[in-house]
Order: sequence, then structure tokens, then C-alpha cells
Amino acid sequence: MTLPRLDPHQRSIDYLRISITDRCNERCLYCMPEGLVEWKERHEILTYEEILRIARVAARIGFRKFRVTGGEPLIRKDVVPFLSELARLPGIQSLGVSTNGTRLSVLAKDLHKAGVQTLNISLDALTPSVYHQITKGDVHAVVDGIHAALKAGFERIKLNTVLIRGLNEDEIWPLIHFAGEHGLILRFIELMPISTTDVLTDANFLGAGEVIRRLSQRDRLIPLETVRLGHGPARYYRLEQNAVTIGFIGVMTNLHFCEACNKVRLTADGKLRPCLGNHLEVDVREPMRHGATDEEIEHIFEQTLLDKPLEHTFRDQYQPARRMHAIGG
Ligand code: SAM
Ligand code: SF4
Repeated sequence: MTLPRLDPHQRSIDYLRISITDRCNERCLYCMPEGLVEWKERHEILTYEEILRIARVAARIGFRKFRVTGGEPLIRKDVVPFLSELARLPGIQSLGVSTNGTRLSVLAKDLHKAGVQTLNISLDALTPSVYHQITKGDVHAVVDGIHAALKAGFERIKLNTVLIRGLNEDEIWPLIHFAGEHGLILRFIELMPISTTDVLTDANFLGAGEVIRRLSQRDRLIPLETVRLGHGPARYYRLEQNAVTIGFIGVMTNLHFCEACNKVRLTADGKLRPCLGNHLEVDVREPMRHGATDEEIEHIFEQTLLDKPLEHTFRDQYQPARRMHAIGG
């Protein structure tokens, strides 16, 4: 079978982002706010064996980069042995984990030993009260986790900050300094209309362009046009005086955002989702539980790639049907 590397829009698709749980130990306003959570039943969630089988098929047909996410992936039981098996699948070139960082002080070393190469750690603020306001969590646990991750020796660690006007604007420079001190890449993510909460309003939206303009008043941003620091469509800059690399994930304002898209998502309940900002999903769980062969699973991947939209629909009055934590960010 030919490798389905190109989608109908000539984008090379080789990145599978796998959500292993829809649950989390934090309650970020923009993702899983308190009171708005509907968990999937346990039997709806793919077992590790099922995920590994899907990943094996994906690797066989040309997927090379894998990232495990959630919900919070590091709260799922036995995540380390699972990652260790995933890392050993033939064909996988890169394995990363996205995490809120709260369990890293316990798990960082084991994750590294298991074969995880890169970490994306969410950090929306350094001021404890602001961090708590956004996530309901404790920033000290995350900072401890970041230190543990630095010690463990991962190939690359990125910090991710969701921009929220009126909430973490004043955290931007402290986060830049923190990233600089620890040699970390810091990425700012535009708020996406994925949840249904009050935080996703025009008033709370802070675009990448505005942040770039503000930063330029204090330092020179040198565009790193040719640098690809990871597998996603972020735009990177080097801050000249602060000597920090920062990136912007301008999902909402960058009209070329989808041109560089190279991924497909596997939701925790076994749906292949070719685009975060489009409701289209292709079920792989039920066919698999009803005896689908590996070739049939390959065919489901092929269909998903054929249906991958040219662009997300977040700018078109998108109405979320499935919240971010249930997709896998
Ligand atoms: N729990 C892990 C974490 O927080 O990093 C992994 C899953 S989380 C859904 C993945 C990423 O999605 C995080 O960086 C988070 O900030 C981002 N995210 C969640 N909801 C978002 C939203 N509505 N808009 C923009 N980014 C969002
Ligand atoms: Fe949990 Fe990550 Fe969603 Fe925050 S963004 S609620 S940490 S899954």
C-alpha cells in the first residue's frame, strides 16, 4: 500500500497526536472549566493495547511523529509503561508528551527513561494567584515539575501559554524571563473557541499581532523564518536583548495557519479527527472492536486524510460540540 503522506491539499501528514484520557487534575477556564465537565465512560476510552495497535498501523503507513496528550495524560494509570511501548514501535522517529506539568516532579525521570524525547508544558502564569485563577491549580507544582524535567535531560522542552486579555497579560514578560533563565522555548497560543465558557469572548481574546507589537516596544524580535522548532505551525522569533526564542500559535489571526498543518488527532474515545477546528471525526474504535483487520484500520486512516479540510472553521461562528480536553490539544 502506498504511504498516504499527502492530503488532497498537498500537505505532508506524518504527525499523530494521541489523547489518552479526557480527564484532568486542573480546570482551565478555556478548556475544562469547573461545573462544565462531562466525562466519557471508561468503556468508551481506548485501552492502551488499542492505542498501541492504532499507532503501529499509523507508523506502518508513514506517520513518524507522535505526541501523547489529553486531558492530562500523566494522570492516567500506567502511563510510563505505555509510553515505553509506544516509543519502541518501529517507524516512530519522535515521541513527545503535552502536559500541565503538575506530575512531572514525580514522573520526569521515568518519562525520559521510557523514551519520551520532548515535552510541551503548559504555563499560563507565574504569579500563583493568576495561575490559580486560570487553572485552579498550584503553580509551584508546575515549576517544580519543570525543574525535574530540565534535570531529566529531554531533547527539547517548550512552555505553552494561552493568551487571555485581562488575565495573564502582565505575566508575559515574567514568563519570557523565566524561559530565558532556563533555556526554554516559550510559545503563546491564541485562545480558540473550543469551550463554551465566558472566557472565550472577543473582550478576552488577545491576538498574537498585538503581543508582538507590545514586545517590540521593549526588545527587537528577529523572525526565525527558516527555523522549524518542532512539528507544528508556530511562527518563531528571537528576542535580541533577552536572548529567548518565542513562538506564536496564531490559530485565529494567522490566515496561513493551516497551510503548514501536518497532523491528525486520535481522541481518547477512538475517533480520528483530521482538524481540530472542524467537527469531522472518523470512528476507529468500533470497527476495531468488531474485528477490523490492520488493513481496514489503514483504510480508515486513508479516508481521514482524504477528508482533511483545507482550513479550520474557528472563524466561522464555530460551535464547539466536543471540548478541547475531549479531543486532545
Ligand atoms: N493537559 C495538558 C496541557 O494542559 O498541556 C495537555 C492537554 S491541553 C488540552 C493541550 C494544550 O491545549 C494546552 O497547551 C492548553 O493550554 C491548550 N488549550 C486548551 N484549550 C484551549 C483553548 N480553548 N484555546 C487555546 N488553547 C487551548
Ligand atoms: Fe487540563 Fe490541559 Fe485542559 Fe488545562 S488545558 S484543563 S491542564 S487538559
